[in-house]
Amino acid sequence: MGRAVDTIAAVATAPVEAGIGVVRISGPEALRVGDRAFRPRRGRPLSERRSHSVAYGWVVNTDGHRVDEALALVMLGPHSYTGEDVVELQCHGGAVAVRRVLEVALEAGARLAEPGEFTRRAFLNGRIDLSQAEAVVEVIRAKTDRAMEAAVRQLEGSFSHAIREVRERLLGVAAQLEAEIDFPELELETESREALLEGCSWSLERIGVLLRNVRRGDLLRNGLRVVLAGRPNVGKSSLLNRLVGKDRAIVTAVPGTTRDVIEEWVSLGGVPVLYADTAGIRETEDEVERFGVDRSREMLRRADLILWVVDAGSGLTAEDLALREQLPSSKPVIGVLNKTDLVDPAALDALAAELKGLRLIQVSALSGAGIEELERAVLEEAGALDMEEGFVATERQGDALRRAADALRSALATAEAGYGPDLISVDVRAAWSALGEITGDTVDEDLLDQIFSRFCIGK
Ligand code: GDP
Repeated sequence: MGRAVDTIAAVATAPVEAGIGVVRISGPEALRVGDRAFRPRRGRPLSERRSHSVAYGWVVNTDGHRVDEALALVMLGPHSYTGEDVVELQCHGGAVAVRRVLEVALEAGARLAEPGEFTRRAFLNGRIDLSQAEAVVEVIRAKTDRAMEAAVRQLEGSFSHAIREVRERLLGVAAQLEAEIDFPELELETESREALLEGCSWSLERIGVLLRNVRRGDLLRNGLRVVLAGRPNVGKSSLLNRLVGKDRAIVTAVPGTTRDVIEEWVSLGGVPVLYADTAGIRETEDEVERFGVDRSREMLRRADLILWVVDAGSGLTAEDLALREQLPSSKPVIGVLNKTDLVDPAALDALAAELKGLRLIQVSALSGAGIEELERAVLEEAGALDMEEGFVATERQGDALRRAADALRSALATAEAGYGPDLISVDVRAAWSALGEITGDTVDEDLLDQIFSRFCIGK
């Protein structure tokens, strides 16, 4: 903002051999640059054509030399990706062809675009908001179909819409508070004070829903790390093989053979899940084993969920319990009773009674019984069941949502404690402005630089 808008150009496609490559030109001079760089086979120059029309012809350099055969698309602002006049030259694919066509565009007066500059212009011209601009990166980077669908929903603006709704309500609350500050003689009736608090609680609730979605979006992007822990020989390797569906971990009857960490990514209902088997976490003198123990501890520290595996056949031992004590207390744990094929139901009931309070799943890694139930429990524990609505929100957006929620909680507490409208209004305004960072309504240049630097050139 502030600086004069020039005309930019960049290659919009990947620099690989392909049928076509696209050089995109955007800005106030786009048509003039297009006229210099492109000669239609017949008809008028690009600058005299209708919006959203296509011309066939040649890309020519300043000497009039033909560089490549191409189609030129003319899209006049504001009905273009950037909201400015845009010319797209579709030439032949391949690193050299597109580079040379780009050089022609630069010779003709365009400047090489910075990463994300086209999308940044789309944002600055009000074509899309900031959360939609960020969704563009997510669409490009999506690793699974589900992540892609979530990014597209965000691109459509459903996330922005939800944020705007809350902001509007908060603005109403702030306005009422500010009226009260300006005209103290109007002192609010208890009723309207309640309505005001209602507005804050409602917003807080909505933000809570969005935050859960952020978490789900995070899951889709980064996946879920599930670590198997248990004393040697309870069947962790066998279970891992079941969960990843192949004979990856080496299964033996000798305790302590899984020396290193074995891990494997699988897609569980569209969610990337990393299953890792640990070498054991007991104190040991053996150096090789200790290395494994350190790695296991590290895995546990980074886990999103821990499967504590117990051998139902041998029942709970002191070693099982000692190991459970060592699991990081902040992590969710599911107790997995393995080898249920070896015991009768009464013994299982007794075991379950001993572990009351812990979520338990009974399985047999040998027969495969209970594995599906375990997988369901894993997704459920991670909040990944029924995640149709998930947005692929970024860390930045999650952070803004959390700050907004904190401010609203503080507003409610301040009101509860009987303080005046001026103090409450500060918090409500803070929440309103934190949410505005998501859509880009309240945002500064540094933040924009930071966001758009994640983009590639040409986007
Ligand atoms: P880890 O040391 O915890 O990784 O245990 P392993 O997966 O190596 O298994 C130890 C032994 O228990 C092997 O002989 C497995 O075949 C056996 N085992 C594992 N799971 C089951 C099960 O569900 N039922 C039975 N009967 N044996 C199992």
